[in-house]
Amino acid sequence: MPLYEYYCEPCNGIFEALRPLKEAAGPFPCPVCDREGRRIMPTSFNAFTFRDGYPRRIPDKGTYWHLGKEVKSPVTGPVRPNEHPEINKPEPPAKKLKGDLDIERERRRLARQQKRVEKKEQEAATAAYEARIKKRPPQLDV
Ligand SMILES: [Zn+2]
Repeated sequence: MPLYEYYCEPCNGIFEALRPLKEAAGPFPCPVCDREGRRIMPTSFNAFTFRDGYPRRIPDKGTYWHLGKEVKSPVTGPVRPNEHPEINKPEPPAKKLKGDLDIERERRRLARQQKRVEKKEQEAATAAYEARIKKRPPQLDV
């Protein structure tokens, strides 16, 4: 059986009901007040029932509806138009441009080069120190 949407005017809310196609057009009792709700087209519901600017649905779970998707909270803070943080995940970091990759590669190359130079200097210093020790005249025991 297909799922249909109904609107209850006294509750100012929407509910869904599974009904056979033949009976879908007729009214259906509201799950809250048991009065007859009338069938609505799924795309039309945003037009007349809202909570804090979001469509509400009955039985009311205190949730909000964002572009037909259920969310726990209304949008707060800056978001792009028609997006909701519970639905639209934050965008992954921007793909790196080829120029940026080249710069990063160059940086790594320079860092490696720097390490090699430091290592050579260290080795040279060690060698010089050892050479100095060897040249020193033997110490006499007192
Ligand atoms: Zn109702």
